[in-house]
Amino acid sequence: MRDRFCLTLLMTAILFATVPLFSEEILMQNASTQATVSPSWIHDSSAKLQKELTAKYGAQQKERLDRGLHQVAEFWRADDGDAAAFEEFVRINFAGDQATLDTMFNRFQSMLEQLDGHMHEITREFNQQSDLDLGPVLPFDEAFAGYDPSAHVLDDFFNNKLAFTVLLNFPLTTLDQRLKDGPTWTRRQWAEVRLAQRFDKRIPADVNLAIAQAGAESGQYIAQYNIWMYHLLDPQGQRLFPPKMRLLSHWNLRDEIKADYSDPQTGPAKQRMIQQVMERIVTQTIPQIVVNNPAVDWNPYTNEVKPAVVKDSDATESRSITNAPEPDTRYATLLKTFIASRKADPYSPTAPTLIDRRFQEDREIPEARVKAMLEQVLSSPLAVQTAQLIQTRLGRPLEPFDVWYNGFRPGSQFTEAQLDEIVAKKYPTAEAYQKDIPNLLIKLGFSPDRAQHVADNIIVDPARGSGHAMGSGMRAEKAHLRTRVEKTGMNYKGFNIAVHEMGHNVEQTFSLNDNDYTLLQGVPNTAFTEALAFVFQGHDLELLGLPAPDAKSQAEKSLNDFWATYEIAGVALVDMSVWHWMYDHPQATPKQLDQATVQISKDIWNRYYAPIFHKNDVVLLGVYSHMIDSFLYLPDYPIGHMIAFQIEEQMKKAGSIGPEFERMAKMGRITPDLWMERATGHPVGPEALLEATQRALAAAGAK
Ligand SMILES: [Zn+2]
Repeated sequence: MRDRFCLTLLMTAILFATVPLFSEEILMQNASTQATVSPSWIHDSSAKLQKELTAKYGAQQKERLDRGLHQVAEFWRADDGDAAAFEEFVRINFAGDQATLDTMFNRFQSMLEQLDGHMHEITREFNQQSDLDLGPVLPFDEAFAGYDPSAHVLDDFFNNKLAFTVLLNFPLTTLDQRLKDGPTWTRRQWAEVRLAQRFDKRIPADVNLAIAQAGAESGQYIAQYNIWMYHLLDPQGQRLFPPKMRLLSHWNLRDEIKADYSDPQTGPAKQRMIQQVMERIVTQTIPQIVVNNPAVDWNPYTNEVKPAVVKDSDATESRSITNAPEPDTRYATLLKTFIASRKADPYSPTAPTLIDRRFQEDREIPEARVKAMLEQVLSSPLAVQTAQLIQTRLGRPLEPFDVWYNGFRPGSQFTEAQLDEIVAKKYPTAEAYQKDIPNLLIKLGFSPDRAQHVADNIIVDPARGSGHAMGSGMRAEKAHLRTRVEKTGMNYKGFNIAVHEMGHNVEQTFSLNDNDYTLLQGVPNTAFTEALAFVFQGHDLELLGLPAPDAKSQAEKSLNDFWATYEIAGVALVDMSVWHWMYDHPQATPKQLDQATVQISKDIWNRYYAPIFHKNDVVLLGVYSHMIDSFLYLPDYPIGHMIAFQIEEQMKKAGSIGPEFERMAKMGRITPDLWMERATGHPVGPEALLEATQRALAAAGAK
């Protein structure tokens, strides 16, 4: 599942960039003494060194020297040494000529690749039992999975002064500078900028640890949040879902709504019931005892709970059975991630909130621009036209759960069962998929050479969950594709996800192994890695040897993606608003956050969805699990769809995916707009998506 992958990437980003076990007040005191006060002598020492070293290395080094002295002084604390130690440090570590600077740059690049690579390797190994289908997870496995070997790295690098060496010699930049000057920088200059950025904060290890713990705790909360569907009773007391069906919120619940469109008889009743369940999760009126519990029967409409009168598991229940609501645990969990994130704020002067860090540092697209792009999609007249088309196809007025309408399907000439059969035959095991990777890549337009090169860098593992991709941090390691294979073979859903994850792995391989600078490995932000993976995923039927989508299918795909973007854009706005609300109400209780989230979900629904669905005050936009455990991640999805369209359009122009994919992936981590300009000739935006949707609506014969 892409979600899982993204979280992996995300945590790496948080941990390196930015977690205390002690109280807020103590931290704030520390922050004011520690994060902002440089020693009083530092100005005089800097002035002295500036004269001395300019005389030594020449006037052409003066600008670099001034900048380096200023950057070191900003982060130097009394604990780091006295004036003599500071001066000595600068004298021996300033690279006064180009040859020394080149050597320094090359060695830092190579050493940091080793550090990142091995840290990532340990993390991957420690998560093996949780991530892979290898038998029961014991409590100590969870502790391994929660452990982050890199938590102290940044601290260590300031203590041993390697961070200061970088700050003395390479430039710190603001997002504004990167946006304005980045287009004229050389690849080496970009690599130097990324090198310096690693040390633009001095966050204590205990703060990083607290963030990691809040992340792990919220992840656990989400991972256990299953609804046992056979135990849901409709108003007539009937069970609409089969025994043993256990759906994880919100992914599986949402996907079941989608699947139920293929069942015109009982589908709508099932979909309404799932919507009711989701609303109870968002509003926290869900009875605590029904969460992940097949020992009780529950009517989500009346909220009545009784001991289960049918059995589809070995579970028993010793607690007294009541419908007492879940006590705002959902929002208490989210609040913990907020409180932990905020502890990093005082140590991040250039991006002093999690919101700033997400937009200015991780996404590198200003928040206002992201908001405007989302609103452009949400208020597009194309949404009204698409909704009318859906209504015509369904033959009934839209209901709120239709935000997950999935009838726009290029592959709809095959039933899921037919596809399952084809896939299971082709891929009875994970090894069978592994062996086929070169062929799959050749089908996507890669030359046999390049296909083999990439395939040699991917290892397929059996996933415990639905699947994810895990890249590597150094060239000596391989990317891992985790995919779910049932005993009866892979099913179509698993294949579709595996193709998506393979897209990640291919991007990870090119952007690391074939990049001119490992410091530039990756893509501008996670939305790009998703977009590139979507490109692969969109061609999954062809990879099965089934007909390539015709014009009509392509129109259906565009409409499907537009509708998905329209849905997730609102979800992203909820996520953004909730984080702003938390920052505006830092003392809020879980109950207050519950009420605020419900209100925000309703407001955004009422503004952008109610005019189309003709129903007010729906709370469904608040159901995404990412909102609870992913630290403001959701905006990456709609941006990802927009970017996917931009990239897909470019692939079409180029005529083949393979070489274009490689050309793009090798650009690495420059700013999003610059990457997109060089990839397609335009900055990031929704225009390609909207244009494709307009064409698709015309092709689909919509008014
Ligand atoms: Zn993904």
